[in-house]
Amino acid sequence: MKLILLGAPGAGKGTQAEVICEHLNIPAISTGNIIREALKKGTEMGLKAKSYMESGALVPDEVVIGIIKERLAQDDCKNGFILDGFPRTVPQAQALDEMGVVIDKVIDIEVPDEKIEQRLSGRRVCENCGASYHTLYKPSNTEGLCDKCGGRTVIRKDDQPETVRDRLKTYHEQTEPLKEYYAKTGKLVIVEGQEEVAETTKLTLAAVEG
Ligand code: AMP
Repeated sequence: MKLILLGAPGAGKGTQAEVICEHLNIPAISTGNIIREALKKGTEMGLKAKSYMESGALVPDEVVIGIIKERLAQDDCKNGFILDGFPRTVPQAQALDEMGVVIDKVIDIEVPDEKIEQRLSGRRVCENCGASYHTLYKPSNTEGLCDKCGGRTVIRKDDQPETVRDRLKTYHEQTEPLKEYYAKTGKLVIVEGQEEVAETTKLTLAAVEG
């Protein structure tokens, strides 16, 4: 199954991608994680993306399209995949179509902006493996340490309140039009993000299977 998860930053795409990944045994591909990894390694792509990412802007289309082309060509994508954070613009969606990728479903997780701002202020990520936590909704077993690898959990630079507002603006201007793009194909399913992660997960899995 080939799936796209749409939604604002902080809507819970990453968490839902992990659940579907385990459920269907297909890889979850996050362009944000790939870029953060490249940044950490100091690769040319990482350096190119750095200033955009830290200011809450989108990395140029040609860079992320290149990343996705390379990643989807890998063996583990043969039986399907979940795209988390790609596409984020109409030209990115068109590039995916042009690659001949036929998407089965696009799941849009909807969460109001006020909730997003509140959620992102509690988000913590492992600086070592990228696992995501939340001080209220998904705390790690030991505060400040990752359950998976024991790394330090930190606030992402782009989760600072001013940057979050810029990211939401970018989302509404550049990513939200994708809802209409995919609604036209009949593949869009809307999931209302719930207070409890487990409740959202139930709705997401029902959307995947329905
Ligand atoms: P995320 O972890 O998905 O919130 O992504 C973090 C940041 O990486 C975004 O704010 C963008 O700067 C960049 N990024 C990730 N995916 C994309 C994409 N598909 N298009 C452009 N920029 C992206």
